Amino acid sequence: MFTSLINLFFPRACAGCNSFLLSDEKVICTSCRHEIPLTNHHKTKNNEAFNKFYGRIDVKFASALFYFHKKGIVQEMIHKLKYKGHQEIGEAIGNWYAEELKSIEELTDVAYIIPIPLHKKRLKERGYNQVTTFGESLSKNLNIKYNDTILIRNVYSKTQTKKTFLGRSEVVERIFGVQFDESHHNKHFLLIDDVITTGSTLEACSRELLEIPGSKVSIVCMAMTQ
Ligand SMILES: [Zn+2]
Repeated sequence: MFTSLINLFFPRACAGCNSFLLSDEKVICTSCRHEIPLTNHHKTKNNEAFNKFYGRIDVKFASALFYFHKKGIVQEMIHKLKYKGHQEIGEAIGNWYAEELKSIEELTDVAYIIPIPLHKKRLKERGYNQVTTFGESLSKNLNIKYNDTILIRNVYSKTQTKKTFLGRSEVVERIFGVQFDESHHNKHFLLIDDVITTGSTLEACSRELLEIPGSKVSIVCMAMTQ
């Protein structure tokens, strides 16, 4: 009753196409829900997301829920999530994806869901990490701990670059790092992000997590460019 009153005065817009949502529609409208391009990655182990990392880094499982197209529904949703404060979009995608991921055998022993850490400056400007609500809803639905302290982003400064003997600058510090203790040994980590493009950030982060003794890594993202 209260929600329908709110909707009457402040109609909610679909995150995909901006049309008004009906009272029984959440975040995206029925038409967008049917049109949104699904990858169906989780149905095959050797999917495009998995193959993207194959030979680069040892991941147990990799998948994205949607395809990301320029000017498409998914781009619109991710844009609102990233830049317009619509964190409920991440939550909705997490709830949706958790239903599909529940039955994935490769993920049954995952101990922690780990978000790609945002640059401190970016975090300050935006006020939130765009993958937090996605990760938290996966965590709640799959009953896996969410941890945003194991994987860290190192802060850059000019003093960390050194001149090589050829006079070139070389970044000596790695962008990402891990903070862990013995309780994090021999664990399976599920790394999450919004969109897989080249996969290089996810690769760098996986590499760091694999520094933890006995660790395994899997990757789950909201979308992937096609
Ligand atoms: Zn829509």
